[in-house]
Parts: sequence; C-alpha cells; structure tokens
Amino acid sequence: MKNDLRTLLDHLVEGALERRAPTRDQALGLLATSDDDLLDVVAAGGRVRRHFFENRVKLNLIVNMKSGLCPEDCSYCSQRSGSTADVLKYNWIDPVAAADMADRAVRGGAKRVCLVASGRGPSDRDIARISETVLAIKERHPNVEVCTSLGLLTAERAQRLLDIGVYAYNHNLNTSETKYGDICSTHTFADRVDTVGVAHEAGLSSCSGAIFGMGESDEDVVDLAFDLLKLSPDSVPINFLIPFAGTPMSGEWRLTPQRCLRILALYRFFFPDVEVRIAGGRELHLRSLQTLGLHLANSIFLGDYLTSEGQEGMLDLELIADAGFVVEGLDDVTLPTARHDMVTLRRRGPGTEVPANV
Ligand code: SF4
Repeated sequence: MKNDLRTLLDHLVEGALERRAPTRDQALGLLATSDDDLLDVVAAGGRVRRHFFENRVKLNLIVNMKSGLCPEDCSYCSQRSGSTADVLKYNWIDPVAAADMADRAVRGGAKRVCLVASGRGPSDRDIARISETVLAIKERHPNVEVCTSLGLLTAERAQRLLDIGVYAYNHNLNTSETKYGDICSTHTFADRVDTVGVAHEAGLSSCSGAIFGMGESDEDVVDLAFDLLKLSPDSVPINFLIPFAGTPMSGEWRLTPQRCLRILALYRFFFPDVEVRIAGGRELHLRSLQTLGLHLANSIFLGDYLTSEGQEGMLDLELIADAGFVVEGLDDVTLPTARHDMVTLRRRGPGTEVPANV
C-alpha cells in the first residue's frame, strides 16, 4: 500500500474508533482513491464496522403501505407527480396484510419493519390508519422495531406515533443542500431537516440517509455527511439510485460498485457506531460486490423495496452466511452500548489530587 494511502486510512480508522468524524480533506481524499486501492479502503472501514458491530447484520423489511400518486416531485422517485413508471398504485393496505408480511419477514430474521407511505406528509386520518397497522404488528411481535416513513411531520403527529408504539421515524435528506433544488421543487432541504428534528425531539429514533447516483459531486457527498452528522441519527440508510423509466432520472447510470463501496466506507467513518444500512439499489449497483458492502454496512433490507423487487430473501441470507456474518437477533442491541462510554467521569481537578485539565 502506498504510504499516503496508508496514512489516510490509519487516521480515518483511528478517528472513527474514537468517534471523531473525518476532516473534509480526509473525506475527499478517500473518495478520490483509485479502484486499485479498493480492498485497502474496505479493509479499513471493515475494522471500524467490526469494532462496533462485530459480525452482525441487521435485517429490515419495507412495507409500502400506500403506493404511487404522490403530489411531490422528487425526481428520483417512481411514485412522484408526473411519473409514468408502471409501479403499483394503491391506497393504504389492510393492517392485517401488513402484519402478515411482517410475520414472514420476522421468520426470515427481520428485526425492524419500516412502514412507508407516499405523500407530502400524513393527515390525522393517515396517522389513525397507520396506528392500526402498528398495533397489529406489535401484538404479534412486541420486540420488533416499527419505523414509519410518512413524509413531513408535525410535532403533534410525531408524538402520536410515539404514543402508539412507533420506535423510529425515517426521513432522508437524500442529497446535499446545494443540490437539493435540482432534485425536488415541492419541498426544501430545510423542510427535511426540520422533520428529522421534529421526530428526534419527540423521542423517536431518527433514521435519515441519502441517495447517491444522482450526479452529485464528491463535495456533495461530503457536505451531506456533515449535514447528517448534525442530526445525530441512529440509522443512516444509503440508497443507490434506481433509475426508473418514467422518471427524470431514468438515464442516470453513473455508479460503479467501486464508487458505491467508497461511499459506504466514507459513511462508516462518519458514522462509526451508527447503523449504516445499504438500502435501495444494492443488487443493481453493488452486484457481485455486495459481500464487500457487508464489511462496511451493518444493516440491509430483506426482500423487496418500495416499488421494485430486490433479490430473493433466501439469497440475502446466503450472502450473509457465506461472508461469515450472522443475522442480528431480536434480542440483540443494535447500537453499541459503548456509546455511553463517551461520557468520561471526571477524575482530575477539584476533589482529586490530579491537576485540573486547564
Ligand atoms: S415525497 Fe416521497 S413518495 Fe412523494 S415523490 Fe418524494 S420520495 Fe416519492
């Protein structure tokens, strides 16, 4: 390994193990590494991943509760206003059907169920509908983490979700603030930041991540990491664009598996002890290098995505076993309890015989 690369990776690993974010220069340096250096980059990120998450992989299930016909115009989305993608369109699935789906996923090892609905944000009636589903799932699987992803949220609605037993709220920032206006005109980056804050304030575990492959520069990738960091999320889903025909992004095939892995490694360094999840586009863009992705991310979706199909669930489980990882159990704690060791009790200065830290 070249000396400058070794130095960069050593510094990144050292910082991440101490929960220090990369500097902007380090982050850009990592993204600029060549494909020849990929295995060194993955190995470095893998050290951090193993330190905090050992060999566990958390599985998540997406349930698309309400599909298509969204009034918003997010250009990457097959459900957007004006989309001619031939996706399923339906209004609110039956709570029992959602709970049945959760049953199958839990049997397959899923620990979190993400209930997603298209739309700008939930009405009170939508919250009532989602409540029925949450209750149906929790009745059968009290330990399953239920996450909801319903769009822009008010404080009152966030509180209602918490009260009915929702554990987490997902709302992705998706791309950098600078680029946000290029991918959506019906809401702003600030709207998204606000909603993540509202969910967090209410006491919901915050889940917020990104979509890559939309023409973003390395600077955008790094800016977004810094902005996400400010939100202190518990989970960070990393999507790789699925360029649906019928959307403005249909021709965007810019990602290589190597680029995806560099991005995953970078986000592992930014979020060393946070759940980094490979989300949509895993099969499409990592392809035969999905295994390497598991050395960086500690979480994936099992089965299908919102409007597109993922690989067979059995293949996901084989992928995990073949790579020497294990599915995280319902009783395992995902986030390292070691996060609490960030508080170092004072043993110097007043009350001790050790000089003060001044
Ligand atoms: S708000 Fe959600 S469902 Fe609607 S277009 Fe944007 S990403 Fe798609």
